[in-house]
This record gives sequence, structure tokens and C-alpha cells, in this order.
Amino acid sequence: MKQAKREYSFWFFVGSQELYGEESLKNVADHAKAIVASLNKSGELPYPLVLKPTLITAQSIHQHFSEAGADPDCAGIITWMHTFSPAKMWIAGLKANTKPLMHLHTQFNREIPYDDIDMDFMNDNQSAHGGREYAHIVTRMGVVRKVVAGHWDDPAVKRRVASWMRTAVGIVESRHLRVMRVADNMRDVAVTEGDKVEAQLKFGWQVDYWPVNQLAEAVGAVSKADTDRLVEEYYARYDVILDGRDPKEFKKHVAVQAQMELGFERFLQEKGYHAIVTHFDDLGALKQMPGLAIQRLMEKGYGFGAEGDWKTAALVRLMKLMTRDIKGAKGTSMLEDYTYNLAPGKEGILQAHMLEICPTLAQNKPAIRCEHLLMGGKEDPARLVFTSKTGPGVAVSLVDMGTRFRMIIAEVDCKANDKPMPKLPVATVFWTPRPDFATGVESWILAGGAHHTAFSYDLTSEQMADWAEHMGVEALVIGEGTTIKGFKQEMMLGQAFYR
Ligand code: MN
Repeated sequence: MKQAKREYSFWFFVGSQELYGEESLKNVADHAKAIVASLNKSGELPYPLVLKPTLITAQSIHQHFSEAGADPDCAGIITWMHTFSPAKMWIAGLKANTKPLMHLHTQFNREIPYDDIDMDFMNDNQSAHGGREYAHIVTRMGVVRKVVAGHWDDPAVKRRVASWMRTAVGIVESRHLRVMRVADNMRDVAVTEGDKVEAQLKFGWQVDYWPVNQLAEAVGAVSKADTDRLVEEYYARYDVILDGRDPKEFKKHVAVQAQMELGFERFLQEKGYHAIVTHFDDLGALKQMPGLAIQRLMEKGYGFGAEGDWKTAALVRLMKLMTRDIKGAKGTSMLEDYTYNLAPGKEGILQAHMLEICPTLAQNKPAIRCEHLLMGGKEDPARLVFTSKTGPGVAVSLVDMGTRFRMIIAEVDCKANDKPMPKLPVATVFWTPRPDFATGVESWILAGGAHHTAFSYDLTSEQMADWAEHMGVEALVIGEGTTIKGFKQEMMLGQAFYR
């Protein structure tokens, strides 16, 4: 990813008190050290965990939360109550906290030592007791936190800690995310609209307008040499499907996209933006609708939304950051619900867009195609075409309900197409929503979810719902276990709760 990368770490706070004496506190410190070392060594965690001194006074608790808040590299705090840490000591610290918070509800020993257990052991190892005291005050204060319960050495617990770390990075990155709009939302379209001031208050997103012709000037300033070099890179990396076009003429169209990729990226970097929206109806002096150029920028980690859809652009950017450096990552992109397959047993939704699908989703080597585009009235744009990977993923939509935001998160299963679609000159994904086609689609429709989504193979509905909870917005998950009756009740509750 081209954007500056923070060396994030997470801080590990262990709660105790002086009541149990020196020896007990030494045990607490030793156990914490062993747990942190093991978690760091496991290779599961995407970011390092940093052990802080055992917290036994209100002053030191407050001081550590404040220090975490002042450190831009601290992406979150994981707390663990080894013994009983009276929770009034935590009030000032929790009030001062600005970082994503987890309560790792674990204990050092896995099994009760039946033959040797005595009251000294009980006093040393009482997470079940101390964790409840701490949890009470966190709940009473209404502080959003993730709770993970289980033995720290269990692979499932490590995976949950690791996956929450990615959510936490999404939360802290959201606070300074900047989206560039070089066009307004498409005329008359409702679902891509939204309150940008409220989005900045809730999520931290700065969404700014720039005249498209300033962007076009930056594109025009890219040299022919730089453009040609990138075209060569494209030709080395992708297949070319000429569709009967003259190879030289075809290459000229590709070069327009290469020049746009370079010009857009320079402009975004110069102005300090992480995501961009375009609109086919407002292209100014740009020669083509940006297709391949946008696809490549998404691959580099920029967010993108079409037709002025800044909410989706911001989400794509965040989900790219949340999935950064995942080994074997399968991809993250903006998508659009296009057309259904309603053949019995094969029900699903074909996802595509007029051009802009991120090539990280590609199953095989993408190919460049160049074809007339009905929208925009510009030159025929070059774009990357491919079919996408199979397997589970999440599709996320953020809508403005007028007085508040709602996030809709669908669990989907991506499947191979039955047959190739040689006449379709765009990248596609085909999926069936969970729990089944009808329930999944009906729930989405009832929730007022958009046709644009931010999609990832590499995130879970739990991660996205946790992100929304932290932001204080409603999250509706459509997945395993969803029923229309239950979903309607959930929406009614949300209607009452989120105002
Ligand atoms: Mn669209």
C-alpha cells in the first residue's frame, strides 16, 4: 500500500491490587509476561502486543490510559484482570480512554490443579472473580469494548484477539480518513447520499470536493515516458483481449488509463487523500471514464466509490486497511448488485460495476479489454476483466436513515459461474447471500441496504459489527441464523435505540 503505514502496537494492561502481597504481584507479572510473549510468538497477531507494568492504583491506571491516548502508534488496549482489581480504581482511566478496548477474560492456568489447590492459589488466580468486578464498571460506564473469553493459549482465542486487532486499526484509521470527491452524487439517486458533517462527527471522515478539472490537469502533467513505462507494466502483467480492435489503437486507450492512474495518485498524495469518488456524468477534461486506473488504485489500497458514493469509498479504504498484510488475502473491493440468477438451486446475485472492480478479487490473471461505454459519452475506456475467487465474504453497506446511519452487513458465499460470459466486458463476482437467497435478499431489502457495497473475502461480520458498535451506529448482520421475523424485531429495536 502506497499510503504511509503506521507501526501500530497494542498495549496490554493487567489489573491487580496490593492486598495479596509482593509474592502474588510477582506471580501476576510473571504470568502476564509469559502470556504476552506467547501471543507475540504465536505468529497469529498482526500487530505486536506490549506489556505494561501491572496496574494496582487509580493513578497509574489513569496515567497509562492517558499515555496510550497520546501515542498515535497505539491502536488499542487489551485489559486482563489476573486477580481482583477494585473497579472504582478504573473509572478515571476508562473516562480518559480514547483507544479501542478489549477485555481478554482469561486466566493463566488452564485446568484447576485438583491435588494442590489451596487458598493461596485461589487468591493468585481469580480472573473469574476480578474480571466480573472490572466488567461491571465498564458496562455501567457504557464503554464499548470487545470481550473475548477463554484460555489465552487456545488457537481460537488467539485468532479472535488477532481479528479484533484488525477491527481496532479500522477504528483508529477511521478518525483521520480523507475522501476526495471530484463529482457530486448522481442526480436523483437516494442511497448514495448522506450527511457528511454527521459522518465526520461519527466516523472521523473528512469528505471534500475538488473540481474534476484540477484532477484532469494533474493527469495531463504526467509525462509520456512515465505513462509508457506503466503501459509496459500493464502489458507484462495482464493479458490483452483485443476484441478485433487494432492493437495500436487499443494501446492508446490503455495509455489514457495509465496516465490517469499516475495523475490521480499524485494528486491524491499531494492533497493527502486516501479514497476517491468519481461520477461518469462529471468527467470534465478527462478523456475516458476512469476504469483500469481506478482498479489499480484500489489494488494499491485506495478507497473508491462510484457515482459520488463517498460512504462506500470510505468503507473500501477502511476495509483495505483492516485486511492489510493478511497472508493469503483474497481481496477487497467496491461492488454493485446487478442481476439475479433465479434458476432453482443456483440462486444468487451477479456483482459487477460498469468498470471499477478491484483486481485483488481476481481468481486468475486479469485481462485488459476496451469497449464502448454507454455512460459518460467519452472515449472507449480500458478496464481489467476477470472472474473472482470463491468462498465466504462480507458485503457492507452504510446508509443514511435521515437522523442516523445504519450499517448492513451481509454474509455471502461466492461461487464459480456456471459458464463463461464472453460478451460481458467487466469483472464479476457471483454470490449467494446467507442464510439462503430469499431470506438474505429480503432482509437486505427490508433494511434499505444500497446497491453499492464494500466487499471483502478477508473480514467477518463480527469484525464489521464491532467496528459499527464502536462508532455508535446500528449494525444489522444478515447471515447464519437470520430469520425475517427476528430481523424485523432487530430493526424495530434499532429504530428505538439509535436516534
Ligand atoms: Mn454504481
